This record gives sequence, structure tokens and C-alpha cells, in this order.
Amino acid sequence: MISFSLAGKRALVTGANTGIGQAIAVGLAEAGAEVIAAGRSSCAETVALTGGRELRLDFADPMAAKDAFAEPIDILVNNAGIIRRADSVDFTEADWDEVMDVNLKAVFFTCQAFAKAALARGAGGRIINIASLLSFQGGIRVPSYTASKHGVAGLTKLLANEWAAKGINVNAIAPGYIETNNTEALRADPARSQAILDRIPAGRWGEAADIAGAAVFLASPAAAYVHGAVLNVDGGWLAR
Ligand code: NAP
Repeated sequence: MISFSLAGKRALVTGANTGIGQAIAVGLAEAGAEVIAAGRSSCAETVALTGGRELRLDFADPMAAKDAFAEPIDILVNNAGIIRRADSVDFTEADWDEVMDVNLKAVFFTCQAFAKAALARGAGGRIINIASLLSFQGGIRVPSYTASKHGVAGLTKLLANEWAAKGINVNAIAPGYIETNNTEALRADPARSQAILDRIPAGRWGEAADIAGAAVFLASPAAAYVHGAVLNVDGGWLAR
């Protein structure tokens, strides 16, 4: 029988205090998982919503999660991410490095720490990375974000190739335009916000909760044969 249940599974979600990470944490908990809400800010609200617990992790140090998997964890969601906007001619090295460290370097080394621990225990697991439409498209004025999210898609496929036969499924979700802190600047610009809306076949911006179902699916037994996929949850944006 097909199962979407996560009963008996323990999940760690990064950047779980708000936005997409919080919605995924709630979705995983609703599907039965015990959730560790990881963040640089307090995840108290998410803990209250999920009944889980919190772990402080700040990916200003991309190796921050190296000791996070001493206890058995079945599901890792690499959601923490940042964006910096400026014309490419003016873009600073700091804005390049900070975004690449959180969005790409930390994702790789968190995956590595998770897999090392899982393989040492003889266990499999699930990794879900949060990619973006800018894993496929160029975007504008977000060079380090686009480079990092193209990197996340590539890394997801590479790690799937290395770990699929070892029982670790590595996949990604590419959210469309979702109403979170990440897109606050876009939504504050009425012309830009309307132009984006006009191009979304679903006729609305996404909500963080729209991403949770895909995460539950990829974490569940139903997705056992899904490896290296980047699943668009974008209201049809990329189909257009
Ligand atoms: P958000 O509300 O800005 O959430 C970003 C999360 O990442 C927050 O929990 C944030 O913590 C955390 N974070 C940032 N820097 C961190 C660090 N150094 N260490 C640990 N955690 C850190 O935006 P969101 O939209 O939910 O973003 C979640 C993911 O979805 C990101 O990877 C983003 O790129 C991706 N995404 C979003 C959209 C969209 O339309 N919103 C579309 C495609 C992809 P603080 O609250 O403490 O800053």
C-alpha cells in the first residue's frame, strides 16, 4: 500500500523559524515526523506548532551542522537561504560570498554530515534541498542567488548519483514566487509584483504552505524510487 506516513521518523529542517521552512516543518509533523526546527533565530513558534524541539544553527559558518547528526535523523531539509539584490556591475564580494556560503556551501556540507552519519549507522535517509525558479532561469540583479540555486540543483543530482544505491534519496523542490520575507522587496514594488502575478498560470502568488505537500511526499515511503529530481511547485510558472 502506498504510504505518505512519516510516523517514527525524525526530521531536521534548517531555517525553520519562518516562511517555507516553518511550513515544511509543520507539514512533516502533521505526517507524523518528530521535527527538529533548526535556525539562527528562535524557532519557538515552530516548536509550538510541531511539538518538536529546536536547534540553533547559523550557517554564517557553512560547517555549522557538522555535529548535528550525532543522533539518528532520517530526513534533512536544507531550506535556510538568503538573497541579495543589486545590479551586477555594482555587486559586492561580500554579497557574493555570504549568499554562496549559506545557500550552497552550507547545503553541501550539511548533506555530507547527514550522509556520513547515516551511512555509519547503516541507515538510509531522505535529503530535500530547497532550490528555486532561479535554478532554471537567470533572474535579474541576484547574481549570487542564481549561481547558488543553479548549484543546488546540480548538487542534488550529483549527490543522488552517489547515494541512491546506499539508500539515501536526494531531491529538491523549486518553489515559485512565495509570500515570505525572501520576496518582500518584490511585493513592495507594485509594478513588479503585478508583472509577476500576471505571469503565474495559477493566478496567485504561492503561500509557504503550498510547498509542504511536496516535502512530505519526497520524505515519505511513496517517493522511494525518486532520486535527483527537482520538483517545481510554482503555480505553473515554468510551464509558461
Ligand atoms: P525567509 O522567510 O527569508 O526564510 C529564510 C530562512 O533561512 C529563515 O529561517 C532564515 O532565518 C534562514 N537563514 C538565513 N540565513 C541563515 C543562516 N546564516 N543560518 C541559518 N539560517 C539562516 O524566506 P523563504 O522564502 O521561506 O526561504 C526559504 C528557502 O526557500 C530559501 O532557500 C529560499 O531561497 C527558497 N526560495 C524561496 C522562494 C520564495 O518565493 N519565497 C522561492 C524559491 C526559493 P532568519 O529568519 O533568522 O533570517
